[in-house]
Amino acid sequence: MKNEMQQYDYLIAGSGLAGLYAAFVASKYGSVAVVTKNKVSDSNTYYAQGGIASVTDNEDTPEFHSNDTITAGRGLCNPVAVDTLVNECPLRIKELIEDGMNFDMSGGVLALGLEGGHRRRRVLHAGGDITGRRISEFMTGQILSNPKITLFENHQALEIILDGKGDGGRCLGLKVWNFDTGRVENFYAGSTIMALGGASAIYSRTTNPQSSIGDGVALCYNAGCQIADMEFIQFHPTTLYSPDNKSYLISEAVRGEGAHLLNHNGERFMVNIHPLAELAPRDVVAQAIEREIKRDPHNRPYVYLSLKHLDSEKIRRRFPHIFQKCEDLGIDMRDKVPVAPAAHYMVGGVKSDIDGKTSITGLYVCGELASTGIMGANRLASNSLAECIVFGYRAVMSAKEHQASNLFAQESLDRYVGSATEPQYYIDSTKQDEYFRIREQISLIMTRYAGIVREREGLESALAELEQIRESLFAGDCGREFYSSISENLIIVATLVVSGALYREESRGGHFRSDYPKENIFNLFHTIQQKGKMNGSLSANWYASVKRPMPNNRKEITPKKQNNRIMTHNSLIDKIIDLAIEEDVASGDITTNSIILEKTKATAVFKMKADGVVSGISIIKRVFEHLDKNVIWRPFVKDGDSVNKEDVIVEIEGSYRCLLTSERIALNILQRMSGIATLTAQFVKEIEGTDAKILDTRKTAPGLRVLDKMAVAAGGGKNHRMGLYDMVLIKDNHIKIAGGIKNAVSQVRENINMGMKIEVETSNLDEVREAVECGADIIMLDNMDNDTMRRAIEIIAGRAESEASGNMTLDRVKEVAMLGVNYISVGALTHSISALDISMNVTVIPDN
Ligand SMILES: Cc1cc2nc3c(=O)[nH]c(=O)nc-3n(C[C@H](O)[C@H](O)[C@H](O)COP(=O)(O)OP(=O)(O)OC[C@H]3O[C@@H](n4cnc5c(N)ncnc54)[C@H](O)[C@@H]3O)c2cc1C
Repeated sequence: MKNEMQQYDYLIAGSGLAGLYAAFVASKYGSVAVVTKNKVSDSNTYYAQGGIASVTDNEDTPEFHSNDTITAGRGLCNPVAVDTLVNECPLRIKELIEDGMNFDMSGGVLALGLEGGHRRRRVLHAGGDITGRRISEFMTGQILSNPKITLFENHQALEIILDGKGDGGRCLGLKVWNFDTGRVENFYAGSTIMALGGASAIYSRTTNPQSSIGDGVALCYNAGCQIADMEFIQFHPTTLYSPDNKSYLISEAVRGEGAHLLNHNGERFMVNIHPLAELAPRDVVAQAIEREIKRDPHNRPYVYLSLKHLDSEKIRRRFPHIFQKCEDLGIDMRDKVPVAPAAHYMVGGVKSDIDGKTSITGLYVCGELASTGIMGANRLASNSLAECIVFGYRAVMSAKEHQASNLFAQESLDRYVGSATEPQYYIDSTKQDEYFRIREQISLIMTRYAGIVREREGLESALAELEQIRESLFAGDCGREFYSSISENLIIVATLVVSGALYREESRGGHFRSDYPKENIFNLFHTIQQKGKMNGSLSANWYASVKRPMPNNRKEITPKKQNNRIMTHNSLIDKIIDLAIEEDVASGDITTNSIILEKTKATAVFKMKADGVVSGISIIKRVFEHLDKNVIWRPFVKDGDSVNKEDVIVEIEGSYRCLLTSERIALNILQRMSGIATLTAQFVKEIEGTDAKILDTRKTAPGLRVLDKMAVAAGGGKNHRMGLYDMVLIKDNHIKIAGGIKNAVSQVRENINMGMKIEVETSNLDEVREAVECGADIIMLDNMDNDTMRRAIEIIAGRAESEASGNMTLDRVKEVAMLGVNYISVGALTHSISALDISMNVTVIPDN
């Protein structure tokens, strides 16, 4: 029988917030189909309680939000993804509100909740504690009233339709099981966006609905996508304990309102474990509860959440539905509530970039299914609804570009449809019971061996048991039988979690190994699993440092002690400022504090003592704010402005003590950064009129790179890589050991993220030829004279970009630029700087 066929511009799978929001955005650009396996409301989204984290308050900043996210992520966050989340979410929220979504208000402003790991109130909520239901109903209303969107309930995605396999493949749409007709339908689309949610319902105790079993992971895995960090399953610390395993979430926001966790001796055990006590990150709280449960001599599988000391009316108003649920079960929320952890959130998922792209053309992922790296090793509370809207939006935008560039070829679809002779799915209802039996077995295996606490032996047993289930499933020939297929999907997802957990021989975030109870600070890595490489034989790569099996003929090099954490610029700047204050002020400015009264106020004026380009204005503001957050700041210029001797660039008012104590640090930063910006501007001016751009290098002051590079940008230069982690530059020593440029490029290419550029250093024309032939993106012409460089550019002939490097001076730079290179890198910008002279004068404000 031939498949039914539907064709749309955008095919969205899943009707949680990520899918609904993506459909809503995509409808502005074409026809949209949404397929979802049950009713539209059957999703994790619908059950979300606490809310959606976004910076909306003046006291909060994206940097604070980013810091909290990265802290919870235990070193594995992708800082670019985090920056994207925290900076774009406020805009998406604003649009949602303009479109009519009602969040709870208090005193005319958005009411903001506080949740674990957040150092500011920033969680918007709706209906008190039914944010998910409200947002899901709101988005469903938008979808149903939109003529460009067709919603298909009871349609379960079964398989990704591919033209070609694996990395080179192109997605043409989905094979979808229609429960109403009992048949498979093929949905074809220019772009397919998978928003199929998480997998926590593969555990027995879970907060998720039963549909949340990782279908998206299994489908993408089968199609050849890379699956990242599946071992990180977040266990929500506080779900209402009931012996029948029906866990109902007691939102983190309840602890945010001040509820205490008590053990069976009535002790607040979190106080001794983490400075944030009950509001510590979820992994910390869940593991602590698990320990308390194991310690209880009476084997009671819960602890208590105590609200006795709180205003009970306020609690009832703020959490009406949780209150009601407890009451229905005969539990008085004004007293104490029995709670235990339950599987809650899939931190890993299908690896994608920040635009939702996977390794398959035309296939995008977003929401809980995607692993962009925002969550690192542990999700910060209420970041996931935020993720859905920010990355649902971005996935559509990149899908739209894909449509526009017409990468989706109708011929490819016609060819596929014309030749679709593969066996069809069918259903054998006698297999249904077997499916439920397998599901039950898997949830027990996962809970027993791959729960909050794991260890090698248990994980190996889990793998063996999963393998047995797989073997028995395929003992008979099931072909494409529906129940066997979805059983196999369950086995795949469980195996991915267990394999990841086995491979990760450390404890980090949502993954705790009792046999490796510490974080391995020497080796920060992501586990990446791809079809054909399961059961621990993992290929691992990402934007951070990687751990991967070394080929047999090479010895693994023991990593030296190193700090692998990738920090956002903002957190690095905070660290630099903290260090500078520690170095200069330490226990206090004894001279100033002896002479100047605390209450004395003063004004400080920063004045130029030389012409130049200023940089560091926003940084020194932070220096003063570190010591007095009430300083009044009046800048007259911004970074990158040209200034003249005698110009006043900033005036600042605040505590006299703070101004004097901060003076040296502020001047050191401002003078150094302005010196770099000024020199960069001279180089940029010198090559004006050519197409070349001035680049910086890694020759920066140790620890100060982020500031040095900001200053280069202020001077009009372009930043080269920030460090060894964000771009590939193959240098002579790499080439030597790899046995040539070609080998080096192909070894690197196997291991890097899609879209990451490869630069190769060359020192002669033969090397230039080799680099061009093996497809390097940028070719560095290192220490070549002008004539050799000219010939190199002729050889490259536009097939790669070129970068001139080595001994670039102001005298020479113009000639080099005129040769037609794309970039000129200048180490001197940051290694040979002279500070720009700037003064700070302080005037006391008379006491009135
Ligand atoms: C109880 C609970 C409380 C939570 N509270 C919060 C909170 O306060 N704040 C927060 O930020 N996050 C919270 N979360 C997490 C958050 O709700 C989810 O991470 C987020 O909603 C995921 O959205 P999504 O659209 O990616 O996936 P989902 O909302 O899970 O949607 C996935 C969709 O895909 C469908 N689907 C699955 N498989 C198939 C298939 N094969 N074919 C077709 N359709 C399929 C599902 O039916 C569903 O419609 C909570 C989660 C739970 C369970």
